[in-house]
Amino acid sequence: MDWEKRKDGKPMYHACEEHIELAMDIIIDEHEAAPIIEKYTEEKSLSTVCSFCEKPAIYHISK
Ligand SMILES: [Zn+2]
Repeated sequence: MDWEKRKDGKPMYHACEEHIELAMDIIIDEHEAAPIIEKYTEEKSLSTVCSFCEKPAIYHISK
């Protein structure tokens, strides 16, 4: 199990409101694990771009 390798807690994807579901699907498909979703603070959100489009990311998803 490669869970340990991800202990650095780095998010795998950033997602805006529109792409959160897509990101979840990808993680579930690729890793067969329930993703961990956390909401960015407003400040952080403005400096982070969605992994799937150009919008500010609202969530980050890791497994
Ligand atoms: Zn997006």
